[in-house]
Amino acid sequence: MSDSGESDEILCGFGDIAPDPPDKRPTCSRCRRPLTVCWCAYLPRNPISVRTKVTILQHPYEASRRLRTAPMLYYGLQPGQCTIIQGKKFKLNKYPDIERLIQDPNTILLFPGEKSQDLASLHPRSDDIQYNLVLLDGTWMQARGLFCQNPFMRQLKQVQLSSPCLSEYIIRTQPTDRCLSTLETAVYAIALLENRPDIIQPLLSPLRAMCKFQIEHGALKHHSKQYLIDNGLYKKQEPPTESHALKSNRNHFGS
Ligand SMILES: [Zn+2]
Repeated sequence: MSDSGESDEILCGFGDIAPDPPDKRPTCSRCRRPLTVCWCAYLPRNPISVRTKVTILQHPYEASRRLRTAPMLYYGLQPGQCTIIQGKKFKLNKYPDIERLIQDPNTILLFPGEKSQDLASLHPRSDDIQYNLVLLDGTWMQARGLFCQNPFMRQLKQVQLSSPCLSEYIIRTQPTDRCLSTLETAVYAIALLENRPDIIQPLLSPLRAMCKFQIEHGALKHHSKQYLIDNGLYKKQEPPTESHALKSNRNHFGS
């Protein structure tokens, strides 16, 4: 393999971090969190109706993570307004819904890149346009892997959110302070597309509750990778030794 081939492999790999092991404590059937830290009570009292249709293409390992935010959007919106499709490589003949998204000129892929247009500059943001908002869900490496390994995504209009907001998802390390969780990305994008600032607080409420539960149970507040690099605190992760792995598992909330 050539040097460039190897670097493509690294850049476009999925960064497959093993999924979290199953939790043995009694769990909520909806959010799948232990009952003591279930965030369902913080969902909007009535699921919120929006015009935008959200499709989340989710790396399969993300579904096994304990601290996920996509289900918060799924249950926070009216049924049918958020669809989650799991996979790594989506063969279009197996996914007619994705085929339909590609054909629809109002489909936008929210993923940053050189060709991404600022979502705020999208015109016209007319009241009768129903956008299909496509998001990639996983770690940043996994989301990048999904983008690289599914060529149809290059056919979609690519947009990004120039958000002034800092992520409130403080219990999972993000690449930079401006990187938002899947839930935050979707909520801020819909609020912008539909001029609906009223949806932000109720839809983000479960995320705030989850972070509060984790901090109360001893989880550390995570700084972004960029913050750690800027402050000389970033340590490249070495493969864990057996004793380190055991210690990590003990410290991992939810195990
Ligand atoms: Zn629950």
